[in-house]
Amino acid sequence: MQKDNLVFELINKELERQRNGIELIASENFTSLQVMQAMGTVPTNKYAEGYPGKRYYGGCEVVDEIESLAIDRLKKIFNCSWANVQPHSGASANAAVFLAVMKPHEKFLGLDLSMGGHLTHGSPANFSGKIYNAIHYGVTKEGIIDYDQMEAKAKAEKPKMIICGASAYSRDWDYKRIRAIADKVGAIVFADIAHPAGLIAKGLLNDPFDHCHIVSSTTHKTLRGPRGGIIMLRNDFENPWGIKDPKGNLRMMSSLLDLAVFPGSQGGPLEHVIAAKAVSFGEILDDSFTTYGKQIISNAQALAKSFVSKGYNLISGGTDNHLMLIDLRNKNLTGKKAQETLDKAHITLNKNAVPFDDKSPFVTSGIRVGVPAVTTRGMKENDMETVASLIDKVLMHTENDSVILSVKEEVKSFMKQFSLYPELG
Ligand SMILES: *Cc1c(COP(=O)(O)O)cnc(C)c1O
Repeated sequence: MQKDNLVFELINKELERQRNGIELIASENFTSLQVMQAMGTVPTNKYAEGYPGKRYYGGCEVVDEIESLAIDRLKKIFNCSWANVQPHSGASANAAVFLAVMKPHEKFLGLDLSMGGHLTHGSPANFSGKIYNAIHYGVTKEGIIDYDQMEAKAKAEKPKMIICGASAYSRDWDYKRIRAIADKVGAIVFADIAHPAGLIAKGLLNDPFDHCHIVSSTTHKTLRGPRGGIIMLRNDFENPWGIKDPKGNLRMMSSLLDLAVFPGSQGGPLEHVIAAKAVSFGEILDDSFTTYGKQIISNAQALAKSFVSKGYNLISGGTDNHLMLIDLRNKNLTGKKAQETLDKAHITLNKNAVPFDDKSPFVTSGIRVGVPAVTTRGMKENDMETVASLIDKVLMHTENDSVILSVKEEVKSFMKQFSLYPELG
């Protein structure tokens, strides 16, 4: 077979795009070269339905070792007793959690998508909102999770599960308070830490495992691994909710979750991606990842400060984690316009609804800005000032193509000092 130049040229084009731009999408990151190398390997050829030691196919002895290693490392990172590394993505991990603990039409409480939540937390467009009865809590007008509203809704509606976690929330969570609310109504607490997991892994944010029954995450955001999902339990438990497996047997929660991933919602696991997860988990266990996590928080705070000094309105006034949400209404800009114009200058971020937004989700009044990717590229606090200035320059000249073009050139030369995959030529 001839090499497929068409596809590989496009991949190289994407590498150049990543090298030349400032990547501020809060959910993105750059994995290490060895994580990518592990992904492009022979376990992709292997069918391994089931779990290590309990597979439906022969020849699984090596992928069993790979998957067991990934599980062991993940358990060590979060000090938990059980983990499943098979979910293909964050959304798949969440689908499995729902399948494990909820029957169709049962009620759960999650953060509203328009207030920073995720599609899988009950959006009407998503399985979570179609199959289950989703009710929502929001944030206060200061932009902080409205725990009083969460409590009032929990008491009034008696949901079976309360989900905490978000895609566009810049503050830490009070997991203890959420658990106290859940205990009053007998609800399960499910924490989806897809965004801040890398910071939680190193003790830089509150630990959800102390208070939440079930925790899921993606592996490709702040955890800086391959695209994928994971589900974890610190302490396995025989579930007090009387949830039964498909055969009608009471089971430990770990067993319900394993069944919900496979055969419940997925077929064969992606063992090459699980190998890459194992590599990234090894990197997270290293002390250098603490340095990385601290730099993320420090960069986010420096960037937030620069934006505030330029008159930008940050939801909640700042950030505890890796991202911030900016309300652009005082600048007479929409999120859509800001995203599109910044894209032309090779500064990548996404438009985002702000709490109580008066514009549609396709337009929005805000942008979400995250620093995990630029921190991986080596940016420090002083570089955040440059980034904020470049963004401000574009946003103040959205109709001036020559300014936008000059910023694009500035971005390209600025990014040359932060090399990306030099080994790839
Ligand atoms: C990103 C994200 C997910 C989904 O992850 P995918 O891998 O894109 O499916 C789930 N929950 C939250 C809170 C997220 O931010």
